[in-house]
Amino acid sequence: MKIQDLHSAFLANPSISTDTRKIKENDIFFALKGENFNGNTYAKKALDSGASLVIIDEEKYFIDERTILVDDVLTALQQLANFHRKQSKARVISLTGSNGKTTTKELINVVLSTSYKTIATKGNLNNHIGVPLTLLTIKPDTEIAIVEMGANHLKEIEFLCKIAEPDFGYITNFGKAHLEGFGGVEGVIKGKSELYNYLTNNNKSIFLNADDPIQLEKLSSYTKKYGFSTINPKYYHIELMNAQPFVNLMVEKVEINTNLIGAYNFTNCCAAVIIGKYFNIEVPSIKLALENYTPDNNRSQLINNKSHYIILDAYNANPSSMKVAIENFNSLEKTNKILILGDMFELGNSAKEEHQAIVDLTEKLNFETVILVGENFHKTSANSQQMKSFNELKAFLKTNPIKTNSTILIKGSRGMALERVLEII
Ligand code: ATP
Ligand code: MG
Repeated sequence: MKIQDLHSAFLANPSISTDTRKIKENDIFFALKGENFNGNTYAKKALDSGASLVIIDEEKYFIDERTILVDDVLTALQQLANFHRKQSKARVISLTGSNGKTTTKELINVVLSTSYKTIATKGNLNNHIGVPLTLLTIKPDTEIAIVEMGANHLKEIEFLCKIAEPDFGYITNFGKAHLEGFGGVEGVIKGKSELYNYLTNNNKSIFLNADDPIQLEKLSSYTKKYGFSTINPKYYHIELMNAQPFVNLMVEKVEINTNLIGAYNFTNCCAAVIIGKYFNIEVPSIKLALENYTPDNNRSQLINNKSHYIILDAYNANPSSMKVAIENFNSLEKTNKILILGDMFELGNSAKEEHQAIVDLTEKLNFETVILVGENFHKTSANSQQMKSFNELKAFLKTNPIKTNSTILIKGSRGMALERVLEII
């Protein structure tokens, strides 16, 4: 089947499913393959559950005229998404970076949706499947699509750009994330820069954090750029008022008091401001949108429970986000501060060194207690409490309960699921 024909079928039923457990009436089911499953085997179940069409790539699963056989289901999904994007008049803003993509995407979306019909990546659907699925949520009346792009290897962003064909781009930062796949920080910079390279080569525009020396160095000669800075008078001025504990910023003499914890969220807000300004949204509307946004999903959430003041940042962690979170926690004007840190994953050969660097940082600063959880932290040399596993931590906290009225930062990689700490303190 030609992509045009598949697209016509999609326009008749513009809703896609890749999971038969979540199928809705008339969805088009794409039988993707994963490491442990073959979507083709669910083709019949998909039709029985109400799918209007199923897209498969193994002939033996063909059922009836509602089955479409393609060479490769994933490629068909990506081609359909690109075709759909090309048909749309929506402007596409893509963002990538090591940390803060989802938060920034949400902030841009709340700002732009005050004046435009927008769609944005749902949750964290930011890879070679998520980006196509996001593009396929573009409606005929969509004016702006905000598309998060994630990567842990070189060439992935380049590939996602070919699918999404962004008109604008923003890189949150270049940090120490996915070092294993990128082969070090230089690789991270190269990988994330694929977004800017695409935009440059296609004469599109970029948004720029002019306070970031790497971005500035790479992009200051670029003509179609819109940058913000706290210090550089060549760029749109935004000021960080304070982050105690929430980020407050000043934009054109208007103070914006957000619900976002941590100075690192400042640049995430700045990106939303500069993009809002570019799209002619007035500062008071930007203010209202940013002030009404509260983060969820364990991303720097403030939890004020009966006994403690807790910053739950258990959604993910890497050396850069760990460092800024700890420094931010250190600067909080609170007493009795306790750190509970879980392992950072995907660091390859740098794992030992990066965990040790975090331990050294905690020892330079002044915390009441530091508790380290996980195999990697267990291997460091530290003066703190070291737990090999979550179960060990659980047993430890049972016999050594945390003093009431403590201020606690909980942070670790997703695999550590440190939000479970809330159940035991
Ligand atoms: P993922 O790679 O999982 O998609 P992401 O880039 O989308 O992550 P977010 O989910 O927005 O990032 O934020 C995850 C965590 O990263 C936050 O809870 C916070 O600890 C940290 N973080 C957010 N913004 C920044 C930033 N600008 N600089 C450093 N760390 C940040
Ligand atoms: Mg994300």
